[in-house]
Amino acid sequence: MAEFTLKALPFAINALEPHISEKTLEFHYGKHHQTYVNTLNTLIEGTEYKDMTLEEIVKSSKGSIFNNAAQVWNHDFYWQCLTPDHQKAPSGKLAAAIEETFGSFENFKAEFTKMSVGLFGSGWCWLVKDSQNKLSIVQKSNAGNPLTDGLTPILVCDVWEHAYYLDKQNARPKYLESFWELVDWKKAEERF
Ligand code: MN
Repeated sequence: MAEFTLKALPFAINALEPHISEKTLEFHYGKHHQTYVNTLNTLIEGTEYKDMTLEEIVKSSKGSIFNNAAQVWNHDFYWQCLTPDHQKAPSGKLAAAIEETFGSFENFKAEFTKMSVGLFGSGWCWLVKDSQNKLSIVQKSNAGNPLTDGLTPILVCDVWEHAYYLDKQNARPKYLESFWELVDWKKAEERF
């Protein structure tokens, strides 16, 4: 397999303003995400992982190869969760499943926000489904990815400080407010 490359963003680099700035994306996408891609390519050279897909590496590796592979996968996924085309809420089957599991969309948002803000240190807050299509919210530290637990990601919020520090400094709750303005519910529904 050829080397991994940084996937293109599904929107222009300034398209998420004012919620997430171009400056943040220049660093978060152009520097942090790019570095995970570069480091992964270096680490897998000459190893059994060289010919695997990114998902296969995430599911089968440990240590620094896992950390960098999962950070590439997680960021690819995170960008796909965001859109400048504001959508207030999901509809269809995902909306029904959220209501069934969390009582209401507002309750879901409150719970997801609480778990994102409350995640200690760096990590990712995920909305996932299991093999029975049952939804849940899971916190993962550092590069953690729910694929390793057999769960299917529906939505993610990157809560590493590099996701918001330039725009909001230490105020992760303010970043969550911006995140809700940007969620691509249409793509989340397709995943569900
Ligand atoms: Mn990040």
